Amino acid sequence: MRIESDIKLGFKDVLFRPKRSTLRSRSQVELSRTFRFMHSGREWTGVPIIAANMDTVGTFEKARALAEHKMITAIHKHYSEAQWDEFLENADEDLYHRIMISTGTSDNDFDKLCNLLERHPQLYFICIDVANGYSEHFVSFVTKVRACFPDKVIIAGNVVTGEMVEELLLGGADVVKVGIGPGSVCTTRVKTGVGYPQLSAIIECADAAHGLSGQIIGDGGCTCAGDVAKGFGGGADFMMLGGMLAGHDESGGEVVQEGSETFKRFYGMSSSTAMDKHSGGVAGYRASEGKTVKVPYRGPVTNTVQDILGGVRSTCTYVGAAKLKELTKRTTFIRVQEQENRIFG
Ligand code: 5GP
Repeated sequence: MRIESDIKLGFKDVLFRPKRSTLRSRSQVELSRTFRFMHSGREWTGVPIIAANMDTVGTFEKARALAEHKMITAIHKHYSEAQWDEFLENADEDLYHRIMISTGTSDNDFDKLCNLLERHPQLYFICIDVANGYSEHFVSFVTKVRACFPDKVIIAGNVVTGEMVEELLLGGADVVKVGIGPGSVCTTRVKTGVGYPQLSAIIECADAAHGLSGQIIGDGGCTCAGDVAKGFGGGADFMMLGGMLAGHDESGGEVVQEGSETFKRFYGMSSSTAMDKHSGGVAGYRASEGKTVKVPYRGPVTNTVQDILGGVRSTCTYVGAAKLKELTKRTTFIRVQEQENRIFG
């Protein structure tokens, strides 16, 4: 047994140190970024925030709304081929750069992926997503998908350590998704005791990826716009959000009415709710690793998006970054014991 005693940080453990700046207003900040991906060689420009591929978050409706803001939606993997055909019937070229097709690693998942890509060759991003990206089988699956689709941008995850980021990038992924256990409806840390504080995971994994000209997505754990900014400040190229984009008109999940209050159901993709819905219940050998909650109904997602983008722009002005691309270079985190004043809750 070994104990690593370096301190590892979560979003709540730091704040940005403000810096002298020549920027006059947050409207001068450019949030759009351009990346060239290491294997596919393709270039992408947009706002690098992604709606998570959860069936209550990564919906077709969400994709249409977020595309207006040049953001990406990782579409959940439970839509049928017919539903995809209908969604893409009159899609413009730009929409293809704003959606990811999600897949697991089973033979059925692979067949469905191949069918969808054959029917819709303009699809651009493939997100290969498993709870635990550390298995050999996962790496070989990524390599198999890379061999079949050399020109697609492949995202693979989730992992939290530099050596596995390198292995996935060398195995064929362009972008690695980082995060085990930080999610708002995730119970992995409680059920298994496994995890890694998310800001440190981002910092360490970004360093490993950038050394090979790859990118990372910081996935999970953001509770507010400040956390999204901290992820970018720590080196994440993209940030993925679940809970922060739940509860809207464009989100899935049933509406729950309690007196005059309206909520929407939100659940983890490994919760018993999701497994009952998609896999006929929780298999005997596994425990559910996700919660089911209700979140206050929040109207159209555009308002929330303005809040998030406004917050990140403001962070950039505080530290003097004229572009999101410069945020990491301009970031000094200070370790803190408290975040905000909670006197009014
Ligand atoms: P959030 O932004 O809500 O904090 O985190 C979203 C992320 O949580 C997702 O992108 C995914 O990686 C993770 N996640 C979603 N559902 C589950 C689940 O049921 N269990 C676990 N362990 N993680 C989940």
